[in-house]
Amino acid sequence: MSSTSWVTSANHPECDFPLLNLPYGVFRRAGETSAARIGVAIGDRILDLHACAEQGLLADLPDPLIASCRADVLNPLMTLGPAAWSALRRRLTALLDADNPCAETRSRVEGLLVPMREAQMQLPARIGGYTDFYASIHHAARVGRLFRPENPLLPNYKYVPIAYHGRASSIVLSGEPIRRPWGQTRSSINGAEFGPTQSLDYELEVGLFIGPENALGESIPIAEAEDHIFGLCLVNDWSARDMQSWEYQPLGPFLAKNFATTISPWIVSLEALEPFRVPAFERPPGDPAPLPYLTSPAPACAGIDLTLEVFLDSRQMRQIGAAPALVSRGNLRDLYWTLSQLVTHHASNGCNLRPGDLLATGTVSGPNESSEGCLLEKRVAGEPLCLPTGELRTFLEDGDQVILRAYSRLPDGQKIGFGSCAGTIMEAPPAP
Ligand code: MN
Repeated sequence: MSSTSWVTSANHPECDFPLLNLPYGVFRRAGETSAARIGVAIGDRILDLHACAEQGLLADLPDPLIASCRADVLNPLMTLGPAAWSALRRRLTALLDADNPCAETRSRVEGLLVPMREAQMQLPARIGGYTDFYASIHHAARVGRLFRPENPLLPNYKYVPIAYHGRASSIVLSGEPIRRPWGQTRSSINGAEFGPTQSLDYELEVGLFIGPENALGESIPIAEAEDHIFGLCLVNDWSARDMQSWEYQPLGPFLAKNFATTISPWIVSLEALEPFRVPAFERPPGDPAPLPYLTSPAPACAGIDLTLEVFLDSRQMRQIGAAPALVSRGNLRDLYWTLSQLVTHHASNGCNLRPGDLLATGTVSGPNESSEGCLLEKRVAGEPLCLPTGELRTFLEDGDQVILRAYSRLPDGQKIGFGSCAGTIMEAPPAP
């Protein structure tokens, strides 16, 4: 087996979707009203899995697996677990491998490839629940420093993975415009006022989709946590900071967060990320060890070396044809808590996680300046962001587009990517 595909666009060194990746998504052919289909990204094409099942190209795989490829969302496939996911991945790899199929199979598969530009991506799953964590200590410390310079980290941070329950209904796919929300904020004159947010921010995050569920009342041992992770995507957890700071005490985020959350369309499996596993974040001397239920049996590969980038372009930049500007770069391996710890902690009280539930890491920030995963953190540096046009940004303005990207690269240059997660801010609606 090789790492090259006969789909030649997949072999370009900068392609996000080489044979090693094979992320899952849900698409419709543009302009068609027929049911959505599951597909796998390869180069600049999508392999239609529904058609593969119809054409007998998945024959010999277990029936529930073939049936899950005919669904219009990924939830049935998510339910089946790692052995089924591996079997499907092996089959798809064989079908697309440059060394593999016979000319006859290849020409049948070729007929089932849809150019990405002719496809409209859909939400990949029915998302029943959405939980957002706070797993980056760099983010927590920088935001804490704004409010409590003498004591940035709250005393619970190093013991318990902090999270809040988000809203699943307002999760949208990359490309959907984001309306500036109205909300309540503190007012020095009237106590409080109601208007369009003046502090709209993005948050660079990674999402994980849950696979097989744990029954209500049962927990997930940390050694099994990754068996419950179907794959990862990018998440932009849009935030209205002025609303947030007014409403968050004592119960946590609410309307400042739930007006919209954008996710990227392609879900990258942990199997595809296997070559990029690294040791978990090393806790500095003096930090408490995680409690036993959160202690991973395999800390040597609990992290993932995944570079995460935020790009921004303004209306003015697009008018003059300027490329989106890179405004931060971080890495998933800098998280204080591993993905397994998030899953295990979430289920540790018996809370049932279900196929298609989305857990997000929280803003991923790094230790350095230029690795702040949101604009709020850039305020710690004190300088507003300066765009190539000379425009300054403390928070997002109408017309601004935020694009998140992620990729991993091996020393030999092999790369896999997540595609992009984009959203453009639209003006607030008229007064309600
Ligand atoms: Mn968040």
